Amino acid sequence: MKLKIVFILLTCIGTTAVGATKINVVTTTADLKSITELIGGDKVDVSSIATGYQNPHFVDPKPSYIIKLSRADMFVTVGLDLETGWSPQLLSSSRNLKIQKGSNGYVDASVGVVLMQVPSVINRGEGDIHIFGNPHYWLDPINGKQIAKNICEGLEKISPENKAFFEANLNAFNTKIDFKLKEWEMKMAPYKGVKIIAYHNEWCYFEQRFGLEIADFLEPKPGIPPTPTQIVKIISEIKNNAIKVIISSPYFTTSSSDVVSKQTGAKTIVLGTSVGAFDSIKDYFDLFDYDIDKLIQGFN
Ligand SMILES: [Zn+2]
Repeated sequence: MKLKIVFILLTCIGTTAVGATKINVVTTTADLKSITELIGGDKVDVSSIATGYQNPHFVDPKPSYIIKLSRADMFVTVGLDLETGWSPQLLSSSRNLKIQKGSNGYVDASVGVVLMQVPSVINRGEGDIHIFGNPHYWLDPINGKQIAKNICEGLEKISPENKAFFEANLNAFNTKIDFKLKEWEMKMAPYKGVKIIAYHNEWCYFEQRFGLEIADFLEPKPGIPPTPTQIVKIISEIKNNAIKVIISSPYFTTSSSDVVSKQTGAKTIVLGTSVGAFDSIKDYFDLFDYDIDKLIQGFN
């Protein structure tokens, strides 16, 4: 009987000790979760607030997210104004001092990223939601390296004893990005300069890396749903430039692109913008594998 109690006690202590060594990380998006897992390996326990098929600009702040954040050792955000509508509110409600802006456990993944479309004047007029520059920078795999570096530095601050482990994982991540990028660029090479239409302005980093040309967007401004005037404009642009493909994301309705497709014959292709957008996109590398294969299918 006594032995049994001792055994139970030891089991409990053992579990607590193992659990306590893991760094508890909460990320805003699934891409940041994937990269944190690749760098942190078995030293981290990561959860993401937004799923990969949710629009990262608009997430309902649920109480369960506050509980998660209250227990976190580290918080990772895309930053700029991607999550402006929901994450600052969740962060302050968590009352967790370890992960507030400026603390060691706060990681802004955008630090050091060369941003595109930074406006000269900050203006939230007409509902624009990209006022600090385009926040969809993770859609260029080279920016993935900068994100991984920022996450690695964050983990090292929390767990300096694992510095060598995190840096070895960062090196492996960078090597795999370089290797895969050659494959992705080779696949996309025949489509350099091909014009397409996109629903939301979230592809400029992808466009620049892989040489596509996004002629226009169904949204007249980021965050403003397609208007009849915009749809008419898009239809004429598609006809004038013989555009064959419209790209969209899982969280947008296809009603307006369906209208355009009917009038022009252009195909709507739904790409993943985040890990988990579709079942086969299990990590950050799968995201580009999926999107590039899907695009090429659409072009042919
Ligand atoms: Zn956006």
